[in-house]
Amino acid sequence: MRKKTIQRGKRPELMWGLGLSDELKLQVETGVGPGFYVRNFPAGAFSWPDADTDGEQPAMAWIPWSVWSAMPEHQREECRSREETQRILIQDQGEKDLEMEQVLADGFLTVVRTPLTRPKVQDAVFRAREVKSMYSDIYRMTEEILLERELLARKTDQLLFLNKILASATESLDPAVILLNAKETLSLLLPIKQLHAAFWTRQQESDVADVEIFLNGAMPPETESLWVERLMAAATDMGGGSVNSFQVVHAESLRRPEYSQTPADGRLVTMPLSAGQDTFGCLMLLCESSYRLGKDQVETFRSAITHLGLALRNGMTFKEVKLRADRDGLTRIYNRHSFEERLIYEIKRRRRYNHDLSLLMVDLDHFKQVNDTYGHKAGDMVLRKVGEILTTTFRTTDLPARYGGEEFVVLLPHTAERDAWTLAERVREAIQTCSFHFDGHDFTVTASIGVASVEGGALSKDEDLILKADKALYEAKHNGRNMVVISKPKETRAALH
Ligand code: GH3
Ligand code: MG
Ligand code: MG
Repeated sequence: MRKKTIQRGKRPELMWGLGLSDELKLQVETGVGPGFYVRNFPAGAFSWPDADTDGEQPAMAWIPWSVWSAMPEHQREECRSREETQRILIQDQGEKDLEMEQVLADGFLTVVRTPLTRPKVQDAVFRAREVKSMYSDIYRMTEEILLERELLARKTDQLLFLNKILASATESLDPAVILLNAKETLSLLLPIKQLHAAFWTRQQESDVADVEIFLNGAMPPETESLWVERLMAAATDMGGGSVNSFQVVHAESLRRPEYSQTPADGRLVTMPLSAGQDTFGCLMLLCESSYRLGKDQVETFRSAITHLGLALRNGMTFKEVKLRADRDGLTRIYNRHSFEERLIYEIKRRRRYNHDLSLLMVDLDHFKQVNDTYGHKAGDMVLRKVGEILTTTFRTTDLPARYGGEEFVVLLPHTAERDAWTLAERVREAIQTCSFHFDGHDFTVTASIGVASVEGGALSKDEDLILKADKALYEAKHNGRNMVVISKPKETRAALH
């Protein structure tokens, strides 16, 4: 027996022989030299793989053609499937040359003829090594490609998600609808229980902001005030200033069970909404407290919020433009156009349901003098204040509007003449008692008011409501100003202060 030579610190490399004769085995061993160990399975006595191979993965296997051709097909198939082992076919000197194609189809690396001289054996070993290192290169590259593919698939998912956000955000110009859609789409990424938002706007030359709060849905009052408090704090922080006024809108009027959860019932995520340098709002999300986003999910989430911010900005601008078209720029109450539209609507409704409808026409007395004495700016201030008085005096179903110049109208549905007169008196008095300070001067103003009504009753005429109120107003002016006059041809009542 040949003594096995083991290099120090290095295990001998394993080779298999499948049915090698003693002579062939010796030739191989001699050819490869030290550093290799040949384990030979007698012909016909091996089954591959089986228990006695101990999970070995030899780099090479030497198989004589006579043994290979006598092997049952299933064993040959097993051989072929062991890709990590390079197989070398040994042909006997006298045997007929095999077709190279067949040799390769059987998965052999090469064919070597007996006698197995040292150069032949070494050449085969060299080629087996080359192929093995090529295989490991290919294997590594395949791994890399798989990884790339995985990353690409993730990127594709992110893009699809962003596309979804963008599509749903641009479906509507109504911020409430955009927010509801956003909640649904963002829920694909993380479980959201509630999504609220705050938007702030600053009037020119003002350092206080008006805040509009969008709550996800209707909720119990005490929960609502907790959320409003949180959103106002965020608006103050992110908007960098104090809040002048705020308004609460519910994106959804439904009161769902999850809307009774408070800011403490989960993880709160607050994201600023910006367009360029300008931060104009924020989103506040209530999420499951246990949920964490992965690194690239955070990135996707951020991009989604940026897209959403732009869509919401568009929505808010649209709302503002619409508001401006409906309102008077100086007093911010409804303008003449809105009033006329509403008047037509109320007259139609009155005809149908036959209820009372009244109209006040308010004109400031000697207003030209206010301008002449204190300046136009003082006049503007007075007009703004009168707008405020009108807004606070009436119900939300009533419609105060600036009719033009220093003339205002108030449309009062479901209001009979007597009540209209009482309200008119209240307004007249509020204007009279309001004191103005401008540029070191104190002054007051007064107003004359004409009242016209159509009472519930089939035969009432309503088309000339404005004309009648105007006539009553004229009478008030004529009779000394600072008074309310009801339009009734025969029994005109004047209320002197
Ligand atoms: P009367 O008691 O008869 O109504 O007298 P008056 O001076 O109020 O009436 P007149 O119609 O002569 O004048 C209305 C004034 O209202 C003239 C105009 O300068 C002023 N005015 C109209 N619109 C505005 C405005 O937007 N701002 C200011 N500052 N003044 C306005
Ligand atoms: Mg006037
Ligand atoms: Mg006038």
